[in-house]
Amino acid sequence: MKTSYLQQDLQALEGLGGYRSLKTLDSPQGKEIILDNKRVLNFSSNDYLGLANDARIKRAAIEAIEEYGFGTGASRLICGNMSPHDKFEADLAQFKNTENALVYSSGYMANTGIISALMDRHGVVLSDRLNHASIIDGIILSRAKLLRYPHADMQALREILKKLPVTGRKLIVTDTVFSMDGDRAPLKEIVDLASRYEAMVMVDEAHAFGVLGKRGSGLVEELALEGRADIQMGTLSKAAGCFGAYVCGTKILREYLINKSRSFIYTTAMPPALCQAARAALQIILKADQLRRNLQQNSDYLRAKLQAMGFDWMNSSSAIIPVLVKDSLQAVEMSKRLLKKGIFVQAIRPPTVPAGTARLRLTVTATHTQEDLDRLLNAFKIM
Ligand SMILES: *Cc1c(COP(=O)(O)O)cnc(C)c1O
Repeated sequence: MKTSYLQQDLQALEGLGGYRSLKTLDSPQGKEIILDNKRVLNFSSNDYLGLANDARIKRAAIEAIEEYGFGTGASRLICGNMSPHDKFEADLAQFKNTENALVYSSGYMANTGIISALMDRHGVVLSDRLNHASIIDGIILSRAKLLRYPHADMQALREILKKLPVTGRKLIVTDTVFSMDGDRAPLKEIVDLASRYEAMVMVDEAHAFGVLGKRGSGLVEELALEGRADIQMGTLSKAAGCFGAYVCGTKILREYLINKSRSFIYTTAMPPALCQAARAALQIILKADQLRRNLQQNSDYLRAKLQAMGFDWMNSSSAIIPVLVKDSLQAVEMSKRLLKKGIFVQAIRPPTVPAGTARLRLTVTATHTQEDLDRLLNAFKIM
């Protein structure tokens, strides 16, 4: 049968502990969810500030639906561009302190669409080994040469840059907070190397937007590197509790992407309600100092306790706290045992992470209480 390989491949995956299936929520996203009909404490979402079910954001979306309807009916370049899109982009540019901003329907589409527009087959992209899959896919789509450097290894990055021809398009791209390890890119060193070797820098702030920096705009702000990262991308789907993504940079970058970026051009404009919801989220994020402090305290507390219990959380310095298990089947087994105790921590396995580094990916939010954290730690005691 011409389709028999489908089942064979799935069985092979299952044997390696790599088979994936969907779980279903019957509640809003939050620190407590109803998962497959059971109420559980959730340590798996990226809803770092607890905004996914925020009343102010919901209200903004509902009001926008009343005013503009739901769908947009066309791509932005045809007739789907509505004033909430323009207003949101103006807000974002101001928030990120850049000349301009452009929204995409998702982070995945932003990364594939930005990189494939900016680079061509003569270009070279230097990419951290642990960058998000959407970045890799963008590079593949661009046909540029992909040079992966070992994770956060600045010596290696320098060596690669040194050997490249002086002319030609060069792009260094990095997550600012790595999605599966929870550590940070050495961004100051990266922009310094980029200046020296005349490479562009693109940052993916997916897990830093809303969380890092005084105003919550990301690692670029926290390290005072504004103006030194050419392309600042991020998602609205994590700490902002919404959906969609953005890229911030110069006016000319925005014009270029509007004209050349296929995942921007050939897709329907995002619903205006999303733009209005995200505008409300921006206002909340600007004043979310207390939430960010809670998040930091919760993360520090968990790391300290887990360390005392002998768990390896790698180099985590964010709300993403990996608990290294190594073996895929064992990671899945641990996740199942935690779930039996009413605690949801997703197991992450290759190919999402490198072979032999399967882990439980714990994510903590600003809304978890001391009691929640202690319940989690107690459940970990029997591992
Ligand atoms: C989640 C994520 C994305 C994709 O963003 P979506 O809006 O969910 O499509 C891109 N980059 C990184 C680093 C991410 O963690």
